[in-house]
Parts: sequence; structure tokens; C-alpha cells
Amino acid sequence: MPKTDLTHLRNIGIIAHIDAGKTTLTERVLFYAKSTYKMGDVDDGTTVTDYLKEEQERGITIVSAAVTCQWKEYRINVIDTPGHVDFTAEVERSLRVLDGGIVVFSGVEGVEAQSETVWRQADKYHVPRLAFVNKMDRVGADFAAVVNEIRDRLEAKPVAVEIPIGAGATFKGVIDLIDQKAIYFEEQSLGSTFLEQPIPDEMRDQVARWREQLFDLLTQFDESDRLTSAYLEGRAVSVESIRAVMRDCCLKHSVTPVFCGSAFKRIGVQPLLDGVGHYLPSPLDIPPVEGTNPKKKDKREKRKADPKEPFCGLVFKIQSDQHGDLAFVRVYSGTLEEGTRHYNPRTDGKEIVQRLWRIRAGDREKIQAAEAGDIVGVVGLKDSVTGDTICDTRNPILLERIEFAETVVSMSVEPASSADKNKLMDVLKTLAREDPTFEWRFDEETGQTIVSGMGELHLEVKRNRMLGEFNLKAKVGKPRVSYRETIKSRAREWGECIHQTAGHGLFAKVEVEVEPFKGEQAITIESRIKPGVIPQQFLPAIESALHDEARSGGTLGYPMIDAKITLRDGVTHETDSNEPAFRAAAADAVRKAVQAAGMVLLEPIMRLEVTVPDEYFGDVIGDLNARRAEIASTHLRGKLHVIEARVPLERMFGYASAVRSLSQGRASYTLEPHAYAPAPEEKLREMLGQY
Ligand code: GDP
Repeated sequence: MPKTDLTHLRNIGIIAHIDAGKTTLTERVLFYAKSTYKMGDVDDGTTVTDYLKEEQERGITIVSAAVTCQWKEYRINVIDTPGHVDFTAEVERSLRVLDGGIVVFSGVEGVEAQSETVWRQADKYHVPRLAFVNKMDRVGADFAAVVNEIRDRLEAKPVAVEIPIGAGATFKGVIDLIDQKAIYFEEQSLGSTFLEQPIPDEMRDQVARWREQLFDLLTQFDESDRLTSAYLEGRAVSVESIRAVMRDCCLKHSVTPVFCGSAFKRIGVQPLLDGVGHYLPSPLDIPPVEGTNPKKKDKREKRKADPKEPFCGLVFKIQSDQHGDLAFVRVYSGTLEEGTRHYNPRTDGKEIVQRLWRIRAGDREKIQAAEAGDIVGVVGLKDSVTGDTICDTRNPILLERIEFAETVVSMSVEPASSADKNKLMDVLKTLAREDPTFEWRFDEETGQTIVSGMGELHLEVKRNRMLGEFNLKAKVGKPRVSYRETIKSRAREWGECIHQTAGHGLFAKVEVEVEPFKGEQAITIESRIKPGVIPQQFLPAIESALHDEARSGGTLGYPMIDAKITLRDGVTHETDSNEPAFRAAAADAVRKAVQAAGMVLLEPIMRLEVTVPDEYFGDVIGDLNARRAEIASTHLRGKLHVIEARVPLERMFGYASAVRSLSQGRASYTLEPHAYAPAPEEKLREMLGQY
């Protein structure tokens, strides 16, 4: 691929509600933008981004792989984002590293629940975006209605830059409102060839009305007056100045340019790619990345997207394959070169970049260096995991870590033989490295390995990979609720580690205070110990022991959250105190203090949104009430009722089939973790009874 100057680089994600057509559109983008040569169809399971077997079977995109392609003078890195809410964390992670997005809506279904969730996530990360109203070839597709929904439901300012020619069976092309021409796509060449023609006479009025809307909106935000005076005075306005103002507005989130087409019928994809070049940001348009100096805790650091700055990058995805681990790295500053050593502030270790790859849809190209702004695949990183920063050794910076929610579902895995037991460890380590929202631990009491994730589907996918792709022989339990614990009140206790043996003894005493506390982290650790009471070199180990003990499980063995642990006092012995002794004493103190403070069992509460036709509304509501759901609101979206509720996850297993039979398959829903809340008393009693 030719070298690309930064202004022509685009890092984008294609984001959508499941089934809106994201995979099909991605496939078309990679085809026209010359990254792959055979166009696939999702329904045959041959698309490029869905290369994992699991994804092909389900026809959903789970893994955010980044793929590079070239469209005219633009190099576009497409970061694939999953559409299913069980994978919200994957979406958030990709939003961190992309600069712009295409949000795909179905021309028939319009703005659906997940599009709304993802839209808000994109708002949170300030991602400028284009909207693509897809499926214009389907019966019932209504472009204007979707534009209105984007305005009303997403509180955005959509501005149509295209309108469809026809809709449903008669849909055959698009009209570019800025260039004022009609574009028709040729079927024989799989849409590669398209014809530009004058606007058909019968559409002139309609085009004039849409253009008026476009100018009305743009002139509101045209700070530089490149457009407004000319437009108001009736002078001709150049295509370039309209685009320039549109670009400014899009980058500032003032407006969202709206495109339309049919990914399936290959209509409207190339103008959308032009739109990516015209309106979405290059790495130079986004603010310098910020972080802290890991050597001087409170010092903020900034890095510009400049190849000459010191290097820093974020590992946003690790994929394991037979050639070893491939780490996807967004280079924020400087130049990453093959064969160089870099620093990972989390591990405080060095990593060697053995190989650099530009990842394309069907193959990969070996490259020598990647410059600021780019996204590349790196081979050779040994200890880095998703979310880590790697940076120049002499100019260290720690970028903000990607935050992940607590897991809500767990299941047990029992290997069939001791050979499988060893293999299980490797498989779990691999899966956890790839996906930080997947966790595992060994439960000493039951001798079982417990894996946890973000939802039933999330764990089902992992189970299938363990048993299928990794060929592990194991008995896998049913998914269960992953509870948490917190403490009722404040308590202060001493813990100790005292062993007198013939030779050296072991001695340490530690006093801690625990209290309920909602901090940024699940557990907040503080030290308020007088200097000198415990030698300085032991303090980091003590603090990490306090944290580990709380996370390894409270009274019932579930990880603790929403608590603060303060190190208050200690006793040191001249010769017998060492790090292991202090770690043990710290853990002992936490156990005693938590016991004294009393525990609260917390259960995951989910945010549920169900969309259901009128005739099944009553039944669905009745069923939700029986599931301890708290209905937050109900409203109409078109002819459909939308129910928003909070409901304990415990009552939601198997909801997919329940709601299907209640509504004869007409209702759809989304379910995502909302919060942890105290579980009912009976639940706690039932659990305590087990002990
Ligand atoms: P994703 O879940 O958002 O990745 O959606 P897919 O690309 O997998 O598409 C879901 C379904 O919609 C598949 O059966 C596609 O063939 C179909 N589809 C995608 N785009 C279009 C389109 O423009 N028109 C029509 N009629 N169907 C489409």
C-alpha cells in the first residue's frame, strides 16, 4: 500500500443494532476499497470480518478486528465493532481507538434499542459519525421517517446529504444533494460501476426541499460564514464550501450527515466511502492523547499525533492464532518500528516488537514501521494484555485504561482428565488475554474452575470456543448469576502472621479499617499509617494484598465491591518481618474486619428493553411482573410498545425463548448490566444455609 499522509488516514468503526446490516456493509466496503477480491454474503457465512467460525455460525460479529483498506487517496482502518449488547465492552473498547464512525440503521426498523445504546456510547467518547440508512430495498423502508427518528430519539441533528430514488422494490439509486446528481449502480458489476445522471424531473421539488433543510441546518453552525451570506443572498454556493462546512459541523458533533442505500443490493456504498473521506476526522483532527507519567504519579502527559513525538500506543485487542498472539495497537504518537523495545508501564517491563503487520481482509502485509495515527498488528508482545499502554522507554506515559464492567454470569468448567486440566489453564489464559470481560478463577472449596462473563450468550460463545476450536474435553455447567458482596458498616480490626520456628520466625501485624464506599474502582485502598511503623518497602505488597483479599471473596466467597480499605497501623519485628508475613497479616486483617462489618449480598440488576406489538403487550408485562421486574416506562414507537424495565438477572435466564413464545416471535429485547443491588433476604438466607 502507498504511504499515506496523516490527513488522508481514517480510523473508523461501523456500528449498528444487530441485523441492521453492519456485516454486509463492512464486506462491501472492503470489497470496493480493495481489501478483498471476492465479495461474500453474510447468509452464506463467507464474509471477511466474521472469520471466526463461531461468528460464521451465528452470523453475528463478535470480535473487533481491525482491517485496512484503500479508497481513492484515503487509507481507511475499519475497526469492527460487535452489535450484540452482551459485548458492550467490546464496543466501548473499539470506540476508544477509532476517530469516527458509521452508524447503520435499518430503513425499515429505524432507530432500535441497541442503536440508541451505541449512539450514547459514541457520544461519551466524542466520536463524530455518519449515519447510513440501510435496507432501502426492503418493503416498508422509509428514509424520511428514519431521519426524524435520529433527530427525536437520539437528540441528534441529522442532515441528509443523499436521498433515495424509489424505496422497497423500486429502490434503484441515490441522489447526492450536494453535487445535485443521481447515481445508479450497475448490478452486473456487483455495483462496482455506477452511472451519474441528472436529477429526474419528477424529483426536483423533493430535492429542493431537502436541500433547503440542509442549508437551514448548516447555516446555523457556519461560524466562518463560508456559506451563510452567499446562500441568503441567493448566490451560487460551491460544492467545496458546502463540504467544508459540513466537515466542520460533523467534527464538532453539531450535525450528523445521513446517507442511504442497500448494502445487500450494493447501492450507495461508494458515496458513503467518499463521505468518510469528506466528513470524518483524520488523526490530526482529534485532540492529543493524554495520560499520566508512571514514574511521577501526578504529572499529566500529552502526545500529539506526530511521527516525531516519542512513541506511545494502546493495545486494544489481542487475537490468538496458530502463529501466536497478534496485538492490535493504535499508535497515538511517534513511530513504532520493527525490532525495537518499548516500555509497558503496567508490568514495568520491556516488550520487543518482533514483527509489524498491516492487516487486510484476506491477508497481511509485513511493514517496517507504523506512524502516529495508524493501527497495526504487532507480534512479539509477551506480557501485554488488552488495555495496556506501550511507550517509549525514556518518555513513559500511561494512557487511561479501558474500563470494564463487573461480570454478571458465571459457570463451572470441569476438565475430563488431568491432561485436559493442564490444557484448560492455557485455554483460559488465552481467552482472558483476548477479552478482559471474561474472567476465571479456581474455587478451592469445590475444586471447580469458574468462568465469568457479561451474559448468557457471551459465555455460550466462550464455551463453544473451548470445546470446539480448542478441542477441550470438559463438563460445562449451566450459566448462573455472578453475585457480589459488600459490607454493611464500618469496622476496624487487627490481623497477624506469627510463626515461631527453630530458626527464623515470621512476624507481622496490620490494622485495617473497612467501610462502604462507592469509588471509581470496585475496591478503594488507602494508606493512613504513620511513617516508619512499617518499612516503606513493604507498603506496596500490603496494599496489593488488601485488594486481592477483598476481590478473592468475602464471607460467601463472592468478590467484594463498593468498599474502602484503609491501612491504619502495624507492628514490625526487627528480624522476623518480611513481605510474605505482611501480606498474610493484611489478608487476615481484611477477613476479620469484613466479618465484623457484616455483609450484604448483591445481585446484578439488568436494564431491559422489550419492543412488542399491542396484542402481546399485556402478556409480556404480566410475565415481567412475575420476574420481579420494575417497569421504568412504557411508550409507543410507531405501532410497537417499548417497555423499559430493571430486572434481576436471576430471573432472566431463558428469557429469549419465554418472550418468543409469549409473543409468537414478534417481540424483541435487549438486556444489559445496569447495577448491583442488595439481593432479597431469602436469597441470602438460602445461601448461608449452604454453608
Ligand atoms: P449485522 O447483524 O448488523 O452485522 O447485519 P448483517 O449484515 O448480518 O445483516 C443481517 C441480515 O440483513 C442478513 O440476512 C443480510 O443479508 C440482510 N441485509 C443486510 N443489508 C441489507 C440490505 O441492504 N437490504 C436487505 N434487504 N437485506 C439486508
